[in-house]
Amino acid sequence: MQSKELIFLKPDAIEGKLVGKIIARFEEAGFKIVRMKKNLISKELALLLYPDSKEQLTGMGNKTLTAMSQKGGMEMVTKLFNTTDPFEIGKQLNEWNRKYASSTEVIACILEGEDAANRARALIGKTDPAIADKGTIRGDFSKDSIYMGNMERRACRNLVHASDAERAPVEIGYFEKYFF
Ligand code: GDP
Ligand code: MG
Repeated sequence: MQSKELIFLKPDAIEGKLVGKIIARFEEAGFKIVRMKKNLISKELALLLYPDSKEQLTGMGNKTLTAMSQKGGMEMVTKLFNTTDPFEIGKQLNEWNRKYASSTEVIACILEGEDAANRARALIGKTDPAIADKGTIRGDFSKDSIYMGNMERRACRNLVHASDAERAPVEIGYFEKYFF
């Protein structure tokens, strides 16, 4: 079934002059661009985009625990976050995300296509570019990693945001109101 998906190209995509290459991946996969605009994400929109939901924050915190277990270990997690609880770690990551997403202008698009959110997320690849598969946007174009982001106490620069399927209509609504 045709559906819509919200993506935005993060500051590192623009800084790295990767906009054309990234958009081409979506077009080549059959997506149609319905809307597209470069603008600043306001503090207000950043709060809506990265809400303090327990499930989402715990999920993000667990990604840190996985990434740091390969490198740095639990000692480093405690040093960086003052806790090893994924939910508490997630709260700090969300602060970094809000700051990064609203630091400089991003390019947001509403895409339309078959099973749009799931297919867009497959194209962008895993959150941590260090383990994202080759052939995915993050795997091919991002040099950053969750580990490097954590060590510098900032969001991982992984080029693209794409809504989870159940959040897509909600995030599209927020961007229609506060961005486009
Ligand atoms: P996504 O849906 O794949 O983008 O991942 P999430 O929704 O879980 O996280 C949102 C964003 O937060 C990611 O795209 C990263 O930029 C950042 N992020 C997530 N987990 C971590 C982490 O463990 N450490 C750091 N530094 N950034 C993270
Ligand atoms: Mg996400």
